[in-house]
Amino acid sequence: MDKCSFCGRDKRETNLLIAGISGHICDSCVEQAYDIVQEEIKKTHPFDLNSIKLLKPKEIKKFLDLYVIGQEEAKKIISVAVYNHYKRLIQSNRKETEDVEIEKSNIILVGETGTGKTLLARTIAKLLHVPFTIVDATVLTEAGYVGEDIESILTRLLQVADYNLEAAEKGIVFIDEIDKIARKGDNPSITRDVSGEGVQQGLLKLLEGSIVNVPPQGGRKHPDQKMIPVDTRNVLFICGGAFEGIERKIAQRLNTTVVGYNAARKSDIIDRNNLMQYIAPQDLRAYGMIPEIIGRLPMLTFLHPLDKKALRSILTEPKNAIIKQYIKLFELDGIKLTFEEETLDYVVEKAVEFKLGARGLRSICEAIMIDAMFELPSGEENEINITADYAKSKIEKVNLQRLKAA
Ligand code: ADP
Repeated sequence: MDKCSFCGRDKRETNLLIAGISGHICDSCVEQAYDIVQEEIKKTHPFDLNSIKLLKPKEIKKFLDLYVIGQEEAKKIISVAVYNHYKRLIQSNRKETEDVEIEKSNIILVGETGTGKTLLARTIAKLLHVPFTIVDATVLTEAGYVGEDIESILTRLLQVADYNLEAAEKGIVFIDEIDKIARKGDNPSITRDVSGEGVQQGLLKLLEGSIVNVPPQGGRKHPDQKMIPVDTRNVLFICGGAFEGIERKIAQRLNTTVVGYNAARKSDIIDRNNLMQYIAPQDLRAYGMIPEIIGRLPMLTFLHPLDKKALRSILTEPKNAIIKQYIKLFELDGIKLTFEEETLDYVVEKAVEFKLGARGLRSICEAIMIDAMFELPSGEENEINITADYAKSKIEKVNLQRLKAA
């Protein structure tokens, strides 16, 4: 019987055994070897721009489809933005003086929490193998106030890039909760707005691209701390926010344009149940973002709230779907795990009922699976089917507050 010369598996135990001159290799060893090669390439040429294959927007979207369910509009916009961003990088890498300089296409994603904004940004970073960091806009304050300086964003980027400046300068930053730094109130001059407009002003120079002096260890600037000048011209910023209540601003604008100079659009049917799809830069302005910031986030798109059907798909379809992960975990113990369809429907129902959204799917599954994960590895059984009744019995025992907090 032929065997894999690497892992020793019999032909029967493999899906495919490839014969060489003096040995054989099985499919899983090929895959592992491929991963090793990729890792090594990444190590020797970390974030090497030349090694990045410029994927076309359609190919980028296809990759996003593997991980993110639905959100077609957002995926399309991001795919185009990322494609253009990389064309731009390649152009600047050539160091030729071009007559037309392609502008940066920073992105702003508007959508309820838990609809996939961070996931989209994270997936793009995974595709591109560039340093990626997530920062929360709520902790940022103007320099000199309690909170983090705006430069701390770049400190994080430097840290994830292992202080490889060249790599950091081509990274992606996801700024979450950007809506929380909206101007509070109409008159900014009454009180100092150190965590609102002040931060927006501070962010400007980062977003547009300039050389920013960054304290390498973060924290406050000390006069004797050596600063690293970071050029943010090629850093891609993706901002995300829920912009709660922005539908009102959209509705207001739609009403005024319908009766106003844009009367031709009167005939357009407006879907009042999903106003978010009409979002435009003016709405962000009405919400309290300063025009300069909006101007530097030229790619504006939105995410749909997730309905039951989307939640059901999220459970099983993405490449690293939660259910696939459990099956894999059990498989590693030699246990065949299966779920009844009704169980999965039940999980979705509970996520909707508890208003937990996609984030809740994991905590609900965890509550259902924890006993099995504890017991089975030391038991005799090598098969388990999770029925809806089993799931119900587990969920009824857990504390709802704990699920919500997860
Ligand atoms: P947001 O940044 O919009 O608040 P996240 O991207 O962090 O939300 O989503 C939270 C979790 O929910 C993700 O880790 C992912 O598991 C799941 N999720 C949310 N939206 C989607 C989606 N459209 N497709 C697949 N999974 C999703």
